[in-house]
Amino acid sequence: MSAGDASVAGLQGVFGGTFNPVHFGHLRSALELVESLQMEHLRLMPSARPPHREAPDCSAEHRAAMLQLAVAGEPRLSCDPRELQRSGKSYTIDSLLELRHELGEEAGLCMVLGCDALLDIAEWHRWQALLDCAHIIVLARPGWVLPQSGKVAQWLAAHRLEDSAALRRRPAGGILITELRPLAISSTEIRELLQRRRSARYLLPEPVLDYIQRNSLYQ
Ligand code: ATP
Repeated sequence: MSAGDASVAGLQGVFGGTFNPVHFGHLRSALELVESLQMEHLRLMPSARPPHREAPDCSAEHRAAMLQLAVAGEPRLSCDPRELQRSGKSYTIDSLLELRHELGEEAGLCMVLGCDALLDIAEWHRWQALLDCAHIIVLARPGWVLPQSGKVAQWLAAHRLEDSAALRRRPAGGILITELRPLAISSTEIRELLQRRRSARYLLPEPVLDYIQRNSLYQ
């Protein structure tokens, strides 16, 4: 970095979702992101009451317990239960404001989402304020394309970063599109397999599958 470039104190990430249940698509993307961006830490944050979709049948406590099992043993990843501990709808902006407060103004903070989630972002509460608190990292996902027109496409064009080095020049405000290993796995497919009494083995960690079976989830 040349003299005069500002540099953030360290990169922290937060990856929100319903994680109903968590699977290797989430986990492998999380780990590859941590390594490729040299993030200090990435929090996987289950949504308690998602505002934009039907509340999952599986409780937030079960989803968080599965996430905890999935990241056990990987110190760079953790389960962040803050949305379970807050009452009311789970607005991402509230979580980002809390994290910004905890980490301080100088820390680089990245919010991670898949490109399917990006397509709906204009429906999120105070979506334009998200970039005031964090950078946004968009994961390319098999079968999904970036928005090509409309307000999200314009917003993307206005804030898109050329490369990951730009994430370290300021604590928030840019959007980076990344292509990691594509894994065409979804929680929907896993729930459907389990409902049809088919095996979901090798799509998600074995301890998570054991938890699902012990607690008779998704039947
Ligand atoms: P569902 O099928 O129930 O919609 P999902 O598999 O998309 O679930 P979510 O918990 O909704 O999982 O996803 C949380 C975040 O992870 C979202 O931003 C989503 O785009 C991203 N994501 C999910 N699966 C993958 C995958 N296979 N590769 C990359 N990103 C993913």
